[in-house]
Amino acid sequence: MNYYGNVFRPPSEARSLIIQATIGCAHNDCTFCYMYKDEPFIIRKYEDIVKDLEEIREYFPRFERIFIADGDALVLKTEDLLKLLKYIKDNFPNVKRVSSYATAGDINRKSVEELQKLYDMGLEMLYIGFESGDDEILRDIKKGLTYQDYLDAMEKCREVGFETSITIIVGLGGTEKWRQNALNTAKLISETKPDYVSYLTMRLYQNTPLYRDYEEGKFQMPSAEELLVEMRLFLENVDSEGSVFRSNHASNYVSLGGTLNKDREMLIAQIDDVLKKKNFKPEVLRGF
Ligand code: SF4
Repeated sequence: MNYYGNVFRPPSEARSLIIQATIGCAHNDCTFCYMYKDEPFIIRKYEDIVKDLEEIREYFPRFERIFIADGDALVLKTEDLLKLLKYIKDNFPNVKRVSSYATAGDINRKSVEELQKLYDMGLEMLYIGFESGDDEILRDIKKGLTYQDYLDAMEKCREVGFETSITIIVGLGGTEKWRQNALNTAKLISETKPDYVSYLTMRLYQNTPLYRDYEEGKFQMPSAEELLVEMRLFLENVDSEGSVFRSNHASNYVSLGGTLNKDREMLIAQIDDVLKKKNFKPEVLRGF
């Protein structure tokens, strides 16, 4: 089994077999992102992926979940991804769920019929990085996507039946655009109602363009307190009945978990408590 470069996966896929169908991220341009910077983007040959799967099957045939890495497996041609999913279906009978990262751009480039075929062949869950619901911030961070792109992609996901897990980032607009980040992200989540919402906290990484903006004074990083105030504003305004909300990533200053909308008041009360006591997670314990 071969892994290339740094392999990233969502925390909830910790027990899954990770298989790299691509190496790196096809977009690789987001100014805050530190991932996949050392690897040129490559789509791996089907034969090489299958060789890895055959090797792992020999020793661990009982995996129940498979996560297809790296950054955006849906960039693969539909027929190639279908071939891989069929191989998994035929050779890993215990697998109950296959998932992958997906960009809204890749989802939108595929027709509903293509996406339906992928779903029917076993790809049931997609992890999608919205990052923000604010078009100005999405432009600033060079995400290459807009609010409308997310609406279109999520509409297709809903039509097909994909489970969706969305990542958003508090602090991405800095101290200047914190309010629009909170409000427009809340609006986007309210309109799209994902199954899972994962709220990460902005961190600056030295090898990123955003870090250079920070050094040049073009981007002001909010304090822990300001980040929680932004998070609070998001929660006050989001309306996404039934979405599982998690803010328990290593990057967060406070660990939160609940279901929207019923746990909203409890989540806000937890933030208020941390703001009052100022017992934020220490910087050394934060990661991304
Ligand atoms: S945030 Fe996602 S889409 Fe953007 S560069 Fe990083 S891995 Fe690629």
